[in-house]
Amino acid sequence: KRKREDEDADSLSQRVQDINVKENEYDTFASLPLSQPTASGLEASHFKTLTDIQKKAVPYALKESDILGAAKTGSGKTLAFLVPVLENLYRKRWTELDGLGALILSPTRELAIQIFEVLRKIGRYHTFSAGLVIGGKSLHEERERLGRMNILVCTPGRMLQHMDQTAAFEIDNLQMLVLDEADRIMDMGFQSTVDAIVEHLPKERQTLLFSATQTKKVSDLARLSLRDPEYVSVHEAA
Ligand code: ADP
Ligand code: MG
Repeated sequence: KRKREDEDADSLSQRVQDINVKENEYDTFASLPLSQPTASGLEASHFKTLTDIQKKAVPYALKESDILGAAKTGSGKTLAFLVPVLENLYRKRWTELDGLGALILSPTRELAIQIFEVLRKIGRYHTFSAGLVIGGKSLHEERERLGRMNILVCTPGRMLQHMDQTAAFEIDNLQMLVLDEADRIMDMGFQSTVDAIVEHLPKERQTLLFSATQTKKVSDLARLSLRDPEYVSVHEAA
């Protein structure tokens, strides 16, 4: 006898396949094919209507396309990647035993903490384990918890340190990589760190890259980390 959750994930996958990205008509989170835990987490956090960048990016990201997204600060990029992270792992029936499913890179500790707080809010009804890897604790202490995490929010330098030094760190199963504030990641000189992290990751994965501006550096990074991405951007009215 199949478990109830399996049937939920199956019918959800069917509804996600049926998303028509061309006639995108998803104005509210309730109109999207989302799992009950995510729908409840969004509702409890009082998120109802999608912002422009969310409206453009989320349907593609749910369908597991790579995304190159650009929209100014304050436009709602965090949910544009966190909702697909929760959903795409949920539909794969990800559990503690599957290890690290999604890695989210952020340029600074402060921004990583903000992402983590939003994840805790909208992900409160999910059973995924999530952790912050931003230094400040000993490598040893962080390492203890790393192996048990399904979703990690990290700064690039600290993440690479773990990849180089934590022998048992399992990333072969990784499904999703998110690069948030990619322009700032590049401006802060993390290019070679991010390159080295990407080298450690499985090639078969979904990558979501978001930035506030579109620069040459961002397109260079995108060329190395994305496969046939959907370009989504929101321009300010002139
Ligand atoms: P960005 O990363 O693009 O700078 P954030 O993700 O930090 O933007 O979101 C900016 C603000 O907008 C936050 O206060 C967030 O809670 C709010 N916000 C994001 N998405 C929505 C939404 N769909 N409905 C209402 N408020 C939202
Ligand atoms: Mg942001």
